[in-house]
Amino acid sequence: MADIIQLLPDSVANQIAAGEVIQRPASVVKELTENAVDAHADSITVNIKDAGKTLIQIMDNGTGMSETDARLAFERHSTSKIQNADDLFAIKTMGFRGEALASVAAIAHIELKTKQAQQEIGTKIQIEGSELVSQEPTSCSTGTSFAIKNLFYNVPARRKFLKSNTAEFGHIINEFQRIALANPQIEFKLYHNDSEVYILPKSNIRQRVITIFGKKTNQNLIPLETTTSIVTIKGFIGKPENAKKKSGEQFFFINKRYMKNPYLNKAILNAYEQILPPETLPSYFLYLEADPSTIDVNIHPTKTEIKFENQQAIWQILHASVKESLGRNNIVPSIDFDQEQSFDIPVMSKNTKINRPTIELDPTFNPFNDTTFADKGQKSAKHSLEKDNLTNWENLYEGFEKEHNQDNDFSFVSNLDTQSSITENTADENVFHFKNKFILTPVKSGLMIIDQKKAHERILFEKFMHSLQTDTAVTQKSLFPKTIELDAKDHQLLLSLKDEMAALGFDIEDFGRNTIVVNGMPYDTGKQEPEQIIDKFLNQYLSGETDIKRQTKESIAKALARASAISASQPLTTKEMREIIDLLFACEQPNYSPFGKKIVTIIKTEEIEKRF
Ligand code: ADP
Ligand code: MG
Repeated sequence: MADIIQLLPDSVANQIAAGEVIQRPASVVKELTENAVDAHADSITVNIKDAGKTLIQIMDNGTGMSETDARLAFERHSTSKIQNADDLFAIKTMGFRGEALASVAAIAHIELKTKQAQQEIGTKIQIEGSELVSQEPTSCSTGTSFAIKNLFYNVPARRKFLKSNTAEFGHIINEFQRIALANPQIEFKLYHNDSEVYILPKSNIRQRVITIFGKKTNQNLIPLETTTSIVTIKGFIGKPENAKKKSGEQFFFINKRYMKNPYLNKAILNAYEQILPPETLPSYFLYLEADPSTIDVNIHPTKTEIKFENQQAIWQILHASVKESLGRNNIVPSIDFDQEQSFDIPVMSKNTKINRPTIELDPTFNPFNDTTFADKGQKSAKHSLEKDNLTNWENLYEGFEKEHNQDNDFSFVSNLDTQSSITENTADENVFHFKNKFILTPVKSGLMIIDQKKAHERILFEKFMHSLQTDTAVTQKSLFPKTIELDAKDHQLLLSLKDEMAALGFDIEDFGRNTIVVNGMPYDTGKQEPEQIIDKFLNQYLSGETDIKRQTKESIAKALARASAISASQPLTTKEMREIIDLLFACEQPNYSPFGKKIVTIIKTEEIEKRF
């Protein structure tokens, strides 16, 4: 029988390899931007058209390549970063498999311009589907510029598998953010369809985080720094009260590269245990340095999953440092509303000599007046009480929900009956304002406390969702249209949200050059200036939705609800408080704000009585 085994031609082998390395436009952005970092650039510009489907251009001012290297760079296993097998264990740079450029070349049209500092003239190379089309001298500045066009032109199945531009650009933003966070000392720029998306000047880690995730992040960052013989960890962790419902701001870097590490992620979550609002995730930006010979980066083709020789020890170190940072910043006691409620009540019997308590107490609380106090002594051992309180408080709302559904005091369904039953329970004189922040009102089982801002967010969110779904928004026309200049990023975002904003009731004309004219605003946005609302709305939308692929009606309604809601220090009249209560309990989901925060809680009557 004739021999039947054939060696695959290089072009086919490269295409197969490409499938592993290059899954989508974002993979190209990742590989080429990392190459630019490895080439010691201190300024990198990423220019994208149509989410990378039309163009991905990466320009750097790094070392550049010689004429020969420029051509060799596209060969499979061509790399300047490993010389021999030993280097595998001692590399400082990662992502060095010499496959990226060969892979991209196999499935796209590439134009490369590159020049080294000492060269007078640079090289221009064109490659299409692994074939060298041309190589000629060109004049260009020092560094390297790659333009990738027609990605997957010869792999139609891949091209078809690509998601919407918004989704694919979301992936690009993710990769870009990771590299930009890993290298704050480098200037990065990202443009999409000629609009600025990120302009990130050289800075330190904190500044970089803030420029990417917004000024408000600044107050949220708790520094962390630990040095041990096997690993050093530095960076920032987020305050528990600012933890978000979804992932997106959890970043680990190992030796300046982004990594995924579910195992170490657990060490962090574990350290936050019991101080996070339910189902939220804290943000973190943590930079680990470890001897490269103790880590293995090659367990995954795209090299984001990393294994450590000392996994368990690093877990412990990380866990301890997060706990310590949280503690040092005094977060643990201060965020926990529940814990503030618990204070020490000393164990007493009739013959106990009564001393003035040395612990901090509510000055109006006087245990000596309470004759029944001593009898309750056996139940009030410090620890059990604290613990009880904590769990009670955590479970309170669940219990409350159940109880009220049963009792029909009111249920969390919006119907008129429900509303009227609340109305009965909350006669006007029984609504109180506390710290211009909470609305208090007695209910059958105790004292109900409503967070006014979160309640208003919920009310507006459901209204805006309704407007978006039914296109029935009411616009408040302005007598004098307002011209507003936005920054480029906001302008681009606003244009991409044009239809949804119209559905919400915005009446906006685009005047080009980042300028818009506002003729009318959604009825429910209140008395704030259009400029303020639009700015808050876009920022909220951006900071809430770092993962742009989740651009949904929901996130738009959420952002506008937060931008328009009353503040947490807004004085309210009794009538306004009543209105909030009524509207809130007419909502489909009155118990949690659109951002997943608790709106309502009830202190049970027994709970109050127990305190006396
Ligand atoms: P690897 O990064 O694993 O070495 P690549 O295929 O990504 O493999 O790149 C191949 C080689 O091309 C690199 O080792 C480097 O020498 C060269 N190269 C790629 N991009 C650049 C760049 N932006 N500047 C300078 N040299 C580059
Ligand atoms: Mg590379």
